[in-house]
Amino acid sequence: MTQILEVRGARRVFKTPEGGTVAALDGVDLDVGQNEFVTLLGPSGCGKTTLLRSISGFEQLDSGALMLEGKDIGRMPAFRRPVNTVFQSYALFSHMTVERNVAYSLEVAGASKQEQKILAGEALEMVGLSGTGSRMPSQLSGGQRQRVALARAIVARPKLLLLDEPLSALDRRLRQKMQIELKALQSELGIAFVFVTHDQEEALTMSDRIVVMRGGQIEQCGAPRDIFRKPRTKFVAEFIGDTNLFETTIECVHGGRILALTREGTKIWLSEETKLAKGDAATVVIRPTDLQVQDAHSSCGFRGKITRVIYLGTDLHYYVQPAVGGQELLVVSRTDGSRRAPGDEVTLTYRPERAHVVEDC
Ligand code: ATP
Repeated sequence: MTQILEVRGARRVFKTPEGGTVAALDGVDLDVGQNEFVTLLGPSGCGKTTLLRSISGFEQLDSGALMLEGKDIGRMPAFRRPVNTVFQSYALFSHMTVERNVAYSLEVAGASKQEQKILAGEALEMVGLSGTGSRMPSQLSGGQRQRVALARAIVARPKLLLLDEPLSALDRRLRQKMQIELKALQSELGIAFVFVTHDQEEALTMSDRIVVMRGGQIEQCGAPRDIFRKPRTKFVAEFIGDTNLFETTIECVHGGRILALTREGTKIWLSEETKLAKGDAATVVIRPTDLQVQDAHSSCGFRGKITRVIYLGTDLHYYVQPAVGGQELLVVSRTDGSRRAPGDEVTLTYRPERAHVVEDC
């Protein structure tokens, strides 16, 4: 894939009000391909916004390089970079019509009135807002305003669009709808998007690639499925979705099969390649949707007792206390006829290929 953006060794240190320093970016390397949807994901303070602001030029790196289509843009002022940003607060001009808001950057660049009208009309059509050009922003809903902000950001066809939590002010339903629309718009435009969120579900839904950040560094970078299924660290496993973690010791590795033993002596069979060897400490990850609740006497797995059952419409959440001790386990299963109750003795089974061993403990 041709790269549109290359970030190399990005470093940015801030002084804290207490007199110390914090490395908001601590040696970040990132490639973004043409037409790729890349999401920066991580807890508050991990450096997502600083990275985005450095790419847009609102922030200067202390060291490192930024290349756009192979050209060094590190010293280029923000307004010259062929990059645009959509913010969480839509930042629309309240005294201008929707059309003028969208056309503003074209007007500043000296485009003719007619050109502005045509391009703004096209951009509004792309975001599903044809016919609203003469309204004022105050006459639009929150979702519509966010679309105007998007139209304004894409009107001049930037090479790269940066989006800083653009959907976080919207309610859940509208937000889910906009996630799908935004992804479709990105494919249609063929512009690379770098999207910031701290919402893991949003990242999984929209991204071609997710970059999980922690403490100014990239913890893991990969396709949503790999990040979810094969987290490289415990931090990533816990940050992306609900999970059951088991602290284990490797008992045996043979031909793509692994046997791990929990502290309580429960055997966990896995089916994957690993660099780990007998005696190594390892954390095993099993997602709640990969555990099945079976009768207590059925085949091997985790024996335990149901402590809580939570009904969530299409899903049931079972909390199970293992018989041998250890942490309570979560099972998420589809709502079906065989509902079980707190106090029931059960066995939790899983497919070995659905268990994953984290090598970096
Ligand atoms: P959030 O999800 O809360 O927006 P973030 O991942 O975007 O967080 P950043 O805003 O990039 O994180 O901040 C990274 C670190 O740098 C934090 O510790 C933050 O306090 C610090 N920081 C960011 N900007 C400044 C600044 N202008 N002055 C001092 N410290 C800053």
